[in-house]
Amino acid sequence: MTSSKTNIKSYTYDELVTRFAEMGLKKYRASQAFEWIYKNRVRSFYEMTNISKSERGMLDANFSLTFPVILRREDSHDGTKKFLFGLEDDHAVESVLIPDEDRLTLCISSQVGCAQGCRFCLTGRGGFRRNLAAYEIVDQVLGVEDFLESATSVEDREDGPAHDGGRQRYITNIVLMGMGEPLANFASVLEALKIITAEKGLGFSPRRVTLSTDGLVPEIDKLAKSGVKVNLAVSLNATTDDVRDRIMPVNRRYPIKELLAACRRYPLEPRRRITFEYVMLRDVNDTENDALRLAQLLRGIRCKVNLIPFNPFPGSDFGRPDDAVVERFQKTLADRHYTALVRESRGRDISAACGQLREQEDATDATVRD
Ligand code: SAH
Ligand code: SF4
Repeated sequence: MTSSKTNIKSYTYDELVTRFAEMGLKKYRASQAFEWIYKNRVRSFYEMTNISKSERGMLDANFSLTFPVILRREDSHDGTKKFLFGLEDDHAVESVLIPDEDRLTLCISSQVGCAQGCRFCLTGRGGFRRNLAAYEIVDQVLGVEDFLESATSVEDREDGPAHDGGRQRYITNIVLMGMGEPLANFASVLEALKIITAEKGLGFSPRRVTLSTDGLVPEIDKLAKSGVKVNLAVSLNATTDDVRDRIMPVNRRYPIKELLAACRRYPLEPRRRITFEYVMLRDVNDTENDALRLAQLLRGIRCKVNLIPFNPFPGSDFGRPDDAVVERFQKTLADRHYTALVRESRGRDISAACGQLREQEDATDATVRD
């Protein structure tokens, strides 16, 4: 693929209109190109048959159109599937597809690795490689949708995830909770969110898209101002700055009080809430006092709390609290009228669970691209 050409999937619709205008192409050509790419999923400009031949040639000369390569797929016994996507520079990222009763959620990555260095996170331990381009974020959705479509058509349905009562199941929800800190890759993530949620794009309702951040306050404000009305999830994970400083370096820049102030001013649509994620670490942040402090801290914020018992990994310094401790923590919050759910990570047997994603060292050996 020629790297001097810009990937056409890096443009939002409005940007492509502008770009096409510069090239002397009509505005409706951008609309047609978007349809071909996101609705019809064509593989080359030459398949865009309602665009004149000479203009197709022009597109091909100016843009690249790549498509995602799934290097490997792993299936968990709980129905979760993990996809390893190969990137053009031989890096790789993971996406996780999580079926639920009435949902099919895709968890996508925003960076190769992560620079935030949270102590309890395997991705963070592995360090940072690079940001993903907007199209590499969008491609994870396209690639999994392509897989779902072909899985249905070849009746690869033993465990039924791509098929439901005779109807194909499509991705219903998207969460940016895979590898990386989405707000540390703000520009590309915003572009990708626009493409994912635009009617002339992938057409996901923004209420079905959630961005999770470790708490980059200025970028939370920028997201609020961007007008992209996706759901916000915040990985809080501690109730004192002391503990949060220790487990999440970002807290030294944006302590709890500043973070929660940003949450308070985040413009919420009617009936929507901020999600606070709280990874429960044994004897670190799981005490009754923590639960009480958490209830106090979140007062006045329209929110819900997801309690995620820690997923251990080799070499991690933390333990997972006993179930009884998690239950008591949850009850303390519930007694104070918070919605608090215990979220068991899915796909633990295939290392697809929260904080277990990382670039596979042997990614390039597993290459099946052609
Ligand atoms: N960087 C973003 C999104 C990716 S992490 C963020 O931090 O929010 C997604 C979630 O997984 C976060 O809530 C994080 O706190 C959680 N997580 C990370 N490592 C974990 C682990 N070992 N066990 C359980 N949850 C973990
Ligand atoms: Fe990065 Fe999120 Fe992991 Fe922290 S928890 S290291 S921000 S991916």
